[in-house]
Amino acid sequence: MENIWTEMYEAAEAVLNARRVSEYVTCGEVSAAVLSKSGKIYTGICIDTCSTLGICAERNAIFNMLTNGEHEIDKVLCLLPDGSSGAPCGACRELMVQLMAGKYHDIEIMLDYSTGRVVKLGELTPEWWIK
Ligand SMILES: [Zn+2]
Repeated sequence: MENIWTEMYEAAEAVLNARRVSEYVTCGEVSAAVLSKSGKIYTGICIDTCSTLGICAERNAIFNMLTNGEHEIDKVLCLLPDGSSGAPCGACRELMVQLMAGKYHDIEIMLDYSTGRVVKLGELTPEWWIK
């Protein structure tokens, strides 16, 4: 496994911190690290609220990347509460597709950190409505 995945895992682990921040909001149960094309790692946590105002960790990390002036993703790692990694949900896949239309196929997703199993976003989004 490339060393960058370990750096991404550690960056995601550093912000993984499940907590209740108000009567209606919890956050930090899932975290994510996104590696931009420039080589910088951006992190994000999930935010869960009433009335579906929350956001997934992956999209939060992507928004963090956008906030900091970048818009091209190279790799994505999502960290679950038990320390395993997982696949992005449909909404996160859709954002990545729209963000990198025509180029999203090669974004690498860490599906299983324990075995180092990486897949490309193109494999997770076959026959998508955007090419
Ligand atoms: Zn998601």
